[in-house]
Amino acid sequence: MLESVADIGCGGTLSTMDAVILSVGTELVTGECLDTNSAWISTRLTSYGVRVVRHVTIGDELDRLATSIRHALKASDLVIITGGLGPTEDDLSRHALASALDVDLKENVKALKQITDFFGRREWRMSDSNRRQALIPAGCGVIFNPRGTAPGILYESEAAGVSGGKMLVALPGVPAEMKVMFEAVVEPRLRETGRATASDRVQCFGIDESKLGEILADMMRRDRNPLVGTTASGAIISVRVMATGRSRDEAIRLLDADLAELERRIGDRVFARGDGSLQATVAGLLTKSGRTIATAESCTGGLLAKRLTDVAGSSEYFLRGFVTYSNESKVEELAVPCELIAEHGAVSEPVARAMAEGCRARAKSDYGVGITGIAGPGGGDTPDKPVGLVYVALSQAGGCEVRRFLTGEHLTREEVRDRTAKRAFNFLRLDLLKSLGS
Ligand code: AMP
Ligand code: MG
Repeated sequence: MLESVADIGCGGTLSTMDAVILSVGTELVTGECLDTNSAWISTRLTSYGVRVVRHVTIGDELDRLATSIRHALKASDLVIITGGLGPTEDDLSRHALASALDVDLKENVKALKQITDFFGRREWRMSDSNRRQALIPAGCGVIFNPRGTAPGILYESEAAGVSGGKMLVALPGVPAEMKVMFEAVVEPRLRETGRATASDRVQCFGIDESKLGEILADMMRRDRNPLVGTTASGAIISVRVMATGRSRDEAIRLLDADLAELERRIGDRVFARGDGSLQATVAGLLTKSGRTIATAESCTGGLLAKRLTDVAGSSEYFLRGFVTYSNESKVEELAVPCELIAEHGAVSEPVARAMAEGCRARAKSDYGVGITGIAGPGGGDTPDKPVGLVYVALSQAGGCEVRRFLTGEHLTREEVRDRTAKRAFNFLRLDLLKSLGS
């Protein structure tokens, strides 16, 4: 609400503007058509520092629609409606809006002219039903539609916009029409509010979301500016930060301060700012250290080598990748002793170590990474060797370190391989950070 304020963290306050988006159409609630309008509008509103508090999707039903509009107007400063402005009997947004505002629908001369001009320019015959589209609730403005027949509707209560009232905009559902009209009518008004946002994120690995939630509890308060939130995907947690300020510079200043604080609190579990990947971070560190690497993979089947070489310039440090799936290949290619496999099994700490050392010796690289594990769904037949058990070994001149991971039996084969590659990269990243003294 406009009367509520958020501390902008630099001695002043900035009023927040709340918005509700109503998507109208039976085809949306039945699932025939995906509501892409709300996501698009939300992204735009958010970039102007408007807080989108609710998305409502509603079928073409007059009473429910009118009730939803009344609720939305009460609960927020800005309401954007899309859909239901067509020429047919089931297009009821204009009627619902008149009912919600408790005013009559009147044929609007300006709207009618826009519609007749649209047909006239194309030498098309206008059907009677298109006249319906010129009906506008009394007291509302008409929004020109340059791409179709349905004019939009603008309602502004007294002292709307920057200084404090309510604004409602009804736009056609067709995305291309909705977008040009939004840009022509809503965005200029948002620019006048004199607020700007800046956002970014840090990406973390090796910490779970609940632990992060504890470390960042005070920063994640919903009434705080910047807004901080977490999302997890594929064992990587992103911490998003969105700052709002009176200018872009102010927003960036607030953003940068929060990003630095996040990095301070989360420490070396942050592997990138923005969109970077674990392998890109590792690539940067390998380049910086001037060290080279070779890989010997069993259960990941070359995934580590693939991801390493996804990064342009990898020929500088990536010397050789072995995919040694069978026992024989481990022996022949990497000189893993047969007895080691016979005694401990292929998925074991000594074999991972021998693979890492073997590939490093063959490639004459600084680092050797050995990976052996059970990707599943079969193969995890004994309690001490379940699906998801993985050994990752990191060999270098100073010695060889082996980590045992349990990625979890609930994961698919693809997920076990993905998590294993990520853990191996993280292992390498932390070692490189240590050796670079940072
Ligand atoms: P309307 O303005 O209700 O006549 O909607 C016209 C067409 O626009 C629909 O048939 C859909 O194909 C599309 N449409 C309506 N609402 C949405 C929405 N929220 N997201 C994406 N497309 C939509
Ligand atoms: Mg419709």
